Amino acid sequence: MYRIDHWIDGHTVASTSGRNGNIFDPATGQVQGTVAFADVSEVDKAVANAKAALPAWRATNLSRRAEIMFNMRELVSANRKEIAALLTKEHGKVTADALGELARGLENIEYACGIPNLLKGGYSEQASAGVDVYNIRQPLGVVAGITPFNFPAMVPMWMFANAVACGNTFILKPSEKDPSAAMLIAELLKQAGLPDGVFNVVHGDKVAVDRLLDHPDIAAVSFVGSTPIARYIYETGTKNGKRVQALGGAKNHMLVLPDADLDMAADALVSAAYGSAGERCMAISVVLAVDTIADDLVGKVQSRIPNVVVGNGNDPSSEMGPLITGEHRDKVASYVAGAAGEGAEVVVDGRDGAPTAGFFLKPSLIDHAKPGMKCYDDEIFGPVLTVVRVKSYEEGLQLINDNQFGNGTAIFTRDGGVARQFQFDVNVGMVGINVPIPVPVSYYSFGGWKASLFGDLHMYGPDGIQFYTRSKVVTSRWPDPRTSKVDLGFPQNR
Ligand code: NAD
Repeated sequence: MYRIDHWIDGHTVASTSGRNGNIFDPATGQVQGTVAFADVSEVDKAVANAKAALPAWRATNLSRRAEIMFNMRELVSANRKEIAALLTKEHGKVTADALGELARGLENIEYACGIPNLLKGGYSEQASAGVDVYNIRQPLGVVAGITPFNFPAMVPMWMFANAVACGNTFILKPSEKDPSAAMLIAELLKQAGLPDGVFNVVHGDKVAVDRLLDHPDIAAVSFVGSTPIARYIYETGTKNGKRVQALGGAKNHMLVLPDADLDMAADALVSAAYGSAGERCMAISVVLAVDTIADDLVGKVQSRIPNVVVGNGNDPSSEMGPLITGEHRDKVASYVAGAAGEGAEVVVDGRDGAPTAGFFLKPSLIDHAKPGMKCYDDEIFGPVLTVVRVKSYEEGLQLINDNQFGNGTAIFTRDGGVARQFQFDVNVGMVGINVPIPVPVSYYSFGGWKASLFGDLHMYGPDGIQFYTRSKVVTSRWPDPRTSKVDLGFPQNR
């Protein structure tokens, strides 16, 4: 058993709230540790420290900020096996997947290494006689990040790298289900040279989140999690005058056209639906199969499923680990249990033969699903792939555009013209063309449409820099005293 406490002002601070949560080992189902749940005074302490650290940090020169990010890049890279082990221990994902998460997270630290270039403003010389106009981007102040269980290292990296490099100080409230990675990241940031108080971690639940949302010294909130909570965070945070970006859930469809390479499509479907036990916001959870190839495609996916090795994430032969909690495993299983009653066909039932210790399910495949069925309408967030058969490209596109979510989507085809049309027509924020999980690289930005994102700016990349800064425009004149005179007219440049 181990204990996770807060990280405030550069060191671990034991919680005195008396409120705690259990940390499970998803592979065994046993409680392996406890995590502190902050009360209001603990959040206030973290915010006060972040506020105190702000003046010196925002005055720190850009080269030094870049140097710290370069140091952090090296430290995360050097410690990647240790961080990955923590992800497997608390989240359950297999080691290769945990290392993949870190590689994608590290991209965001690399992006932030370019902060001197990213913060360059524009300059207009001689906007009027002797007048120059330029804009600068300044940090917002103390900002908060609230993150989900499914990427305990990568999603915090989406946020803090840019936030801190832009000159803000940061409070992270990680998922209470797998809180350890955040603490190792905090230690590495300290080793990288980040001054104490610039990066803080408070653990907890709704109490901590609500305090961050109404604390007057928090300028902005970045959130990633489920749609109902994302909506709540956005509405509450903006009502309290904060800048908010809140990324929500997903139901990502892959449209497979008759001309696609069906073996390649089936490989992609199995990887994208069952990788990380389907607990990815960019997982493919629905395949739209055009009628003429649907039987073939379902058969190819079905034949691949028995080869997916389900087991403890530490076992190098495992390809898919357990789900995060017993409660979540049971909820996912309930969609499979209910599918036949809704009129769908359960082709592969992942409840059969799943390891009984720990929170395991094997991959499930549900065919002949339709809108109106829970197995189609809800975000299941588990290893369940649902097939909807469609007559045409147009019917598939309509289903995607009618869906409440708009996080990711993919089309599999050999026809460039149709793929180009799909990219033009589809109401989804991230689109893959023969790419099943189109998570943008760090120099673009990540974000869905519709109920998958509340707010105007996407996460990380150029939008991230914009989110964590505000623009100031300076109009400047250094007049020659000899030309000075009183002029009450409105300043003009013609
Ligand atoms: P969640 O919404 O339950 O929790 C996310 C965060 O919110 C956690 O830190 C949690 O402690 C906090 N929280 C939970 N309930 C709260 C409440 N009532 N009030 C205030 N705060 C609360 O999400 P999760 O289960 O940790 O993560 C899975 C979800 O996240 C899925 O829906 C998935 O699609 C989504 N997700 C989305 C993206 C994206 O980029 N769009 C990325 C990853 C995960």
